[in-house]
Amino acid sequence: AKAVRLDKLLANLGYGSRREIQGLARVGAIRLDGAELGDAGTRIALDPDLPERLTIDGEPLDPLPGLCLMLHKPLGVTCSHKEAGPLIYGLLPERWRRRDPPLSTVGRLDKETSGLLLLTDDGALLHRIISPKAQVAKRYRVTLDRPLAGNEAAVFASGTLMLEGEERPLLPVDLVVEDATHCAVTLTEGRYHQVRRMFAAVDNHVTALHRDRVGGLDLPADLAAGAYRVMTADDVAAVF
Ligand code: URA
Repeated sequence: AKAVRLDKLLANLGYGSRREIQGLARVGAIRLDGAELGDAGTRIALDPDLPERLTIDGEPLDPLPGLCLMLHKPLGVTCSHKEAGPLIYGLLPERWRRRDPPLSTVGRLDKETSGLLLLTDDGALLHRIISPKAQVAKRYRVTLDRPLAGNEAAVFASGTLMLEGEERPLLPVDLVVEDATHCAVTLTEGRYHQVRRMFAAVDNHVTALHRDRVGGLDLPADLAAGAYRVMTADDVAAVF
């Protein structure tokens, strides 16, 4: 495995400046396999099991870079750094907001959309998921203001639906009716406010929107709104 200096590793994981980490090492706060690491300049092999073996103040090390999270986004938090109000990042441990490489969301959900949101610090993985070429399917559960008219599935599947202000029609979208005001749509694009604008284009209005699947990865039933989980390699593979 690749080896890095302990102080650089911990600084990039947000534990403090290299100077602060040297301080932690000096007071014996950092241990590898139970033995004190007194020198923050020590080179450490980035083995996958390092987080279990390296402790800081007795706590296991944070996940190494190459991190992928699934988060159950609650209503009322924003994915963007620019907007006001509570941010997605406020749901994560404080230290994780200082990580380098930083964690970013894989695409976005609107402030008033809930459901499965992925985050990663792996730029290549991020682009593999959001690339239009990848066509990763995203499924949304939709609650509507007015009953479905009956032709929506055909209109959405046609590949000819044009959203206001756009120049290219939407790729076909699959719609499964649940009852008069509830349905599920599956899209492979992610245009701005796409689901809300699709229903506006057929004279309806989305009153609630929840994403429950990305690729082949379902939002786990036991992941409460606001909670997150580190993804396993199998979880990541399920996305594609
Ligand atoms: N479509 C929307 O309109 N909003 C979302 O958050 C996601 C898809």
